[in-house]
Amino acid sequence: MKKNILGYTLPKLTEEFLALGQSKFRAKQVFGWIYGKKVYSFDAMTDVSKDFRNVLNSDYCVELPKIFTKQESNDGTIKVLLEMGDGAKVESVLMPYNYGDAVCVSSQVGCNMGCAFCASGLLRKERNLTTAEMVGEVLIMDSLLEPLGRKVTHIDVMGTGEPFDNYDNVLDFVKIANDPFALEIGARHITVSTCGLCDGIKKYGKEGIQINLALSLHAPNDELRQQIMPIAKAYPFSKLIPALQEYSADSGRRLTFEYIMLRDFNDTLDCAKQLVSFIRDNNLFAYVNLIPYNEVKEKPYRRSEKTRVNAFVDYLKKNGINCTVRKEFGGDIDAACGQLRSKQVGVKS
Ligand code: SAH
Repeated sequence: MKKNILGYTLPKLTEEFLALGQSKFRAKQVFGWIYGKKVYSFDAMTDVSKDFRNVLNSDYCVELPKIFTKQESNDGTIKVLLEMGDGAKVESVLMPYNYGDAVCVSSQVGCNMGCAFCASGLLRKERNLTTAEMVGEVLIMDSLLEPLGRKVTHIDVMGTGEPFDNYDNVLDFVKIANDPFALEIGARHITVSTCGLCDGIKKYGKEGIQINLALSLHAPNDELRQQIMPIAKAYPFSKLIPALQEYSADSGRRLTFEYIMLRDFNDTLDCAKQLVSFIRDNNLFAYVNLIPYNEVKEKPYRRSEKTRVNAFVDYLKKNGINCTVRKEFGGDIDAACGQLRSKQVGVKS
């Protein structure tokens, strides 16, 4: 099988080409064609010798996913269902913020984390996505933005899947995303979101990269969290808190806590109070991103009333916790995580 160049970090490709007797600049040249000029045919890479182009053609490929369906919202959100080489289907979403274009990248085909409110888990994990497939998600969005004179400027690994259940591929992906010779996206514009796999959190803190980490907290205590996130049983707060503290000590970076507002479940003032104590008492260097819930037909949860959200934000802010409410996109398309895919691929009950 041919090896997809999109799956290689520059150091890995350099090493591989050196072993094939090429100069150490060869990989950078090929990266320049692919990421700089968006030229994906080896034959067009005219500064690479004909002999080596033959090697590339026989052993390598540059393979992007295919767009299976595409939905565009009135607010500029683009949601695509991508088809991978083996037929697997994966969602990516482009959100046009006023500060740039962010892509929500999927890291797995389906998800095994089983969060009670999430549409992604309606379909179990089939497999991990490769590094090349995640890079492909971004390149596809770039190709849709190119005619508009724009490019992807922000990446959130917040689509379907649990990134730390696919650690190595995701890490190479974010390195390629951040590389000035590849996707050229600033580290601070890249965020990886985890449901709380503690080994991954600790390891990530030691990578020496400036990429953001978001933790899907969604509840201020174990009891509530375990009701909606099965992972909280394997990693209760007694394990999660030390992992977060270790991450902060190692990386020196501020964490983001994601907190979905679910009506009458976790949106009371009492929950806000507990959340403040959780952050303060454990000396966590974090800010809170409140997420309006995208209702999922198959799930019993409802979004919180605006007044509840506002009261929650006010309480956090008054108590010195930095907090924002996530802007919503794509209200008129299948915007909720995993919704488009579950509709197209079919939810088996
Ligand atoms: N598995 C990772 C990343 C994927 S989910 C994680 O759990 O963080 C990305 C974020 O979207 C998570 O915070 C997740 O809880 C949230 N999410 C899932 N379904 C949602 C929905 N229907 N509405 C709003 N946010 C949702």
